[in-house]
Amino acid sequence: MPSSIGSETAPSVPLLCDGQWQPSDADRFGEVYNPSTGQVIGRVPMCGADDVARVVASAANAWPAWRETPAVDRARILFHLHGLIERSADQLAERVTREHGKTLSESRAEVARGLEMIEFACGMPSLLKGENLANIAPGVDAETNRHPVGVCVGITPYNFPSMVPLWMLPVALVCGNTFVLKPSEKVPLSAIRIGELMLEAGLPAGVLNIVHGDRECVDALLAHPQVAAVSFVGSTAVARAVFEAGTRQGKRVQAAGGAKNHLIVMPDADVPLTVKALAASAYGCAGQRCMAGSVAVAVGTIGDQLVDQLCAHASGLRVGATDGAPDIDVGPLIRPEHRDRVAGYLEVAREEGARVTLDGRDRFESETFLLGPSVVDQVHPEMRVAREEIFGPVLSVVRVDDIDQALAVGRACPYGNGASIFTRDGAAARRFKHEFNAGMIGINVGVPAPMAWFPFTGWNRSFFGDLHVQGEEGMLFYTRQKTSLTRWFHAPSDSHHDPVWKSAPGA
Ligand code: NAD
Repeated sequence: MPSSIGSETAPSVPLLCDGQWQPSDADRFGEVYNPSTGQVIGRVPMCGADDVARVVASAANAWPAWRETPAVDRARILFHLHGLIERSADQLAERVTREHGKTLSESRAEVARGLEMIEFACGMPSLLKGENLANIAPGVDAETNRHPVGVCVGITPYNFPSMVPLWMLPVALVCGNTFVLKPSEKVPLSAIRIGELMLEAGLPAGVLNIVHGDRECVDALLAHPQVAAVSFVGSTAVARAVFEAGTRQGKRVQAAGGAKNHLIVMPDADVPLTVKALAASAYGCAGQRCMAGSVAVAVGTIGDQLVDQLCAHASGLRVGATDGAPDIDVGPLIRPEHRDRVAGYLEVAREEGARVTLDGRDRFESETFLLGPSVVDQVHPEMRVAREEIFGPVLSVVRVDDIDQALAVGRACPYGNGASIFTRDGAAARRFKHEFNAGMIGINVGVPAPMAWFPFTGWNRSFFGDLHVQGEEGMLFYTRQKTSLTRWFHAPSDSHHDPVWKSAPGA
């Protein structure tokens, strides 16, 4: 079990409110662990309605001045933030590794993806331009402008402690909104660092606020009448609940949920390269990615070769503690309970008739944070390992006869984040891209996560809402349109007629 060493003395994680780091009013606290050592490195307050009222008031008070700040000046602050994060990227990455457990190179890649979101946001004033048409009626001009929506809330998951907050914050802020961030209570420290750097970059007090906690905190945010919009990223059950509660209370909501991602391997695939891509997809970040490959679909005769090479490759991956250890391939899972939940799926798979050809439990005791990569062969699409999100380093292999059956596996899946095909056959790849039941497609790319300039287009139970995070869709989510019609009177007689609502021609 995790050691509670330091739990008494571990520092309390503060709130950010009115530009100040403040203690919480909470009487419940959670623990932040270093999954590499099992030590408690922070105590996180489980904030309730009073703390939520405080941070929302701070954001609401800051909004009038911030929304009137020119968009280019708002973007300039993000430009400063970019420089600050870039110069201290290694420290931020080390913090991500310390509280999450992913490898240092995975944390560096996460920080780089966050920087790209800031780069996108810095160029956003050009997207905020409106539209106009002169003379929609004689002497009347029409124009549409984009306005911020107000106080926005971001609720983020544990698996990308710095990147997912940066999916939201830069775009919302450059659009002229103020923000309350509720990071995952398991990994609040990276968000705190981003808050520190935002203040250093010159963000005015109250424009960004940070509050902590679990369901109680989220419910208070969703119920608060001054919250206009909510961005959520997390598991499907919570995403759906947040979407339903938020929209019922009149808020805009975008809610990204869990996933079950398929990797189709056609008979003509380059097996050694495909195996590397599959392993990186399934075991990178110890499988704790919403775009992680979870089910390999082996088409035709390629199954045996694929499974043999996958097991050989995966058993050579270095598994271990990551904090201060740069040579590890697969780090610890977030908590021992989660490790045991993931390991439990190997037992479920066996009971349902699948074959565990590589068992990640063999190398590690239970009740630690570590689990090696696993391969489960002879999986049928109706088995639990094929249907449920596992969120750990387990790759199931389903064998099918042809691409029609591979597409059917996708159609039966209730999720719809990502899917990839490995092939040299352009026609098969084109058909897969067009027909597979998922919103993000890779062709010989194992993790088809789009970059900042494109929307993160999850489908089905992987997303609730209309406008996704990232790209122009993110800007649309954080703005509302206002349309105005203007005429200037030239002669007194003009004022007698409404030039738009005049009689129909010929009437
Ligand atoms: P989670 O759903 O447990 O928690 C996400 C957030 O919701 C956290 O801030 C948490 O405090 C809060 N929360 C938890 N339970 C709640 C409840 N009952 N009511 C209200 N709020 C609650 O998710 P997690 O375990 O932190 O993250 C992993 C999940 O996130 C996986 O399912 C993964 O697929 C998903 N994810 C999805 C995407 C995507 O873009 N689709 C990206 C990253 C992660």
